Amino acid sequence: MSTILLAGGAGYIGSHTAVELLNAGYEVVVVDNYSNSSPEAIRRVEKITGKTVKLYELDIKDNAKLFEVFKENRIDAVIHFAGLKAVGESVQKPIMYYRNNIDTTLSLLETMSEYGVNNIIFSSSASVYGENNPVPYTETMKRGVCTNPYGWTKSMMEQIFEDAAKADENLSVILLRYFNPIGAHESGIIGEDPQGIPNNLMPYVSQVAVGKRECLTIFGNDYPTHDGTCTRDYIHVVDLAKGHVKAIDYILSHNCVEIINLGTGTPYSVTEIVSTFERVNGIKVKHVYGPRRAGDLAELYANADKAAEILGWRAEKNLEDMCRDSWNWQKNNPNGYNQ
Ligand code: NAD
Ligand code: UDP
Repeated sequence: MSTILLAGGAGYIGSHTAVELLNAGYEVVVVDNYSNSSPEAIRRVEKITGKTVKLYELDIKDNAKLFEVFKENRIDAVIHFAGLKAVGESVQKPIMYYRNNIDTTLSLLETMSEYGVNNIIFSSSASVYGENNPVPYTETMKRGVCTNPYGWTKSMMEQIFEDAAKADENLSVILLRYFNPIGAHESGIIGEDPQGIPNNLMPYVSQVAVGKRECLTIFGNDYPTHDGTCTRDYIHVVDLAKGHVKAIDYILSHNCVEIINLGTGTPYSVTEIVSTFERVNGIKVKHVYGPRRAGDLAELYANADKAAEILGWRAEKNLEDMCRDSWNWQKNNPNGYNQ
């Protein structure tokens, strides 16, 4: 069976993808520096699947150490999750974001070239569509003007992958543009474990519900949407993980360069997220309306058809599943992986 290297595989999306790859029969090697994660996540992946994961603690920017991993393992494909992802922090510390996100990418591509590994899947983001493309976003649209350095790192890395594939006809690349991943594995033993005050909506909602935060502020209720709050294309992280398995199946049997959205195609508003979470879980989430957050777009959702056509993948879980599973993880692990 093929061996897949997950760069940044101990993180939120990487750990869920590891479960689905192992369940599908792939061997998994994880490389992570735990800058935003814990090796405990991988121990729990092993518990869920009953399989073992080869785990390396290292900074992917460190080429020499990465070479050792490729020397020790016959890697068939790489999934590149490793990156810093906090939008607000990227505005405060742009150099750190450009250095980490772009260097990890260059380091992986150089190492793959050295060891003749020709397949890479990259965690890109809907943020590369920028502020001027109309919704729903389709993959044929041009990358737009991003609203923050995080988004620009994704846009630049997409360009790097495209240029690398143009220069090397053996290199296959799939750029997966994620929409808004939420939820957790249904076991409730792996999930999203943000450090400090969460930036994203669902971890904030869950932490208010569990009593770790006082009150959710909904950022703006005067947007031109059906209820005045922003809409997003929320996708269950297990669906997203299964999309990666399909992308791996595809890249191992095609020489390709593809951009593929991973979203559901259905937008929900912030208010709908809060009310669904309350209803499904039978718990109140205290919230107030506050001013808009700088850089937020009113509406953002995918045209999800290309993933269905090319990969044979569509999201299967609904908003109730996402809210139930987010809460199941949060209430069983109020302090995340630091029990
Ligand atoms: P995460 O922070 O949970 O996972 C990223 C992992 O990469 C972490 O385990 C971190 O320790 C590791 N990492 C970072 N820099 C590293 C380095 N230099 N060397 C080794 N390991 C390093 O984030 P996630 O939510 O799982 O996201 C995974 C990827 O998907 C990221 O690239 C992110 O930008 C992208 N993405 C995420 C979302 C989202 O909403 N979660 C949306 C779109 C795109
Ligand atoms: N949001 C909010 N309060 C919060 C966090 C987020 O109202 O504490 C809103 C935010 O304005 C956006 C949506 O929730 O409309 C999703 O935000 P998130 O940061 O999770 O994802 P984004 O789409 O910005 O990447």
